[in-house]
Amino acid sequence: MSRFAEPMTRLIDELKKLPGIGSKTAQRLAFHILRSSDDDAEALAAAVRDVKASLRLCSICNNITDVDPCVYCASATRNQRQVCVIEEPTNIAAVEKTKHFNGVYHVLHGSISPLHGVGPEQLRISNLLRRVENDQVDEVIIATNPTVEGEATAAYLSQQLKRPGVKITRIAMGIPVGSDIEYADEITMLKAMEGRREL
Ligand SMILES: [Zn+2]
Repeated sequence: MSRFAEPMTRLIDELKKLPGIGSKTAQRLAFHILRSSDDDAEALAAAVRDVKASLRLCSICNNITDVDPCVYCASATRNQRQVCVIEEPTNIAAVEKTKHFNGVYHVLHGSISPLHGVGPEQLRISNLLRRVENDQVDEVIIATNPTVEGEATAAYLSQQLKRPGVKITRIAMGIPVGSDIEYADEITMLKAMEGRREL
């Protein structure tokens, strides 16, 4: 039999389903919610409901958005013909913070991983193919992660997207700024050498 009243057990069980939340943390969060004001508890419940009710994927780029097309795809000031391909919606923030990219995005929602049974058909690629086929793209910048999966995805995409008049580029990976090349592993060093540019 549970040590807690039924509504409390139910809340703890739901919280335990969240990533990185074990039994102890779930209990602590549940008691925090119980002690919080009615307004705070209601705001949390409403935020959870609204995120499911109002967010969807952009029909053009698969970004998570409350308006379709998303702010990037609807922007008149961004270059709609330069598309940066990323694995997850959260990667957009990483590119945006460079403040040097004024194109648009395509979110794959994953990467090819034969080991985990993820093939290209499980990724969201078709709307990108359509954009390229319809001659709406000048350059595709593949910014998948520098992992085995990210590299496999990049190789697959470059093969699928190859068309006359469409430039396919891969972001250069290299030595993190502030680190010492002595400590770079060989893949990082290789990528740094490959991505070299003329000075
Ligand atoms: Zn979009």
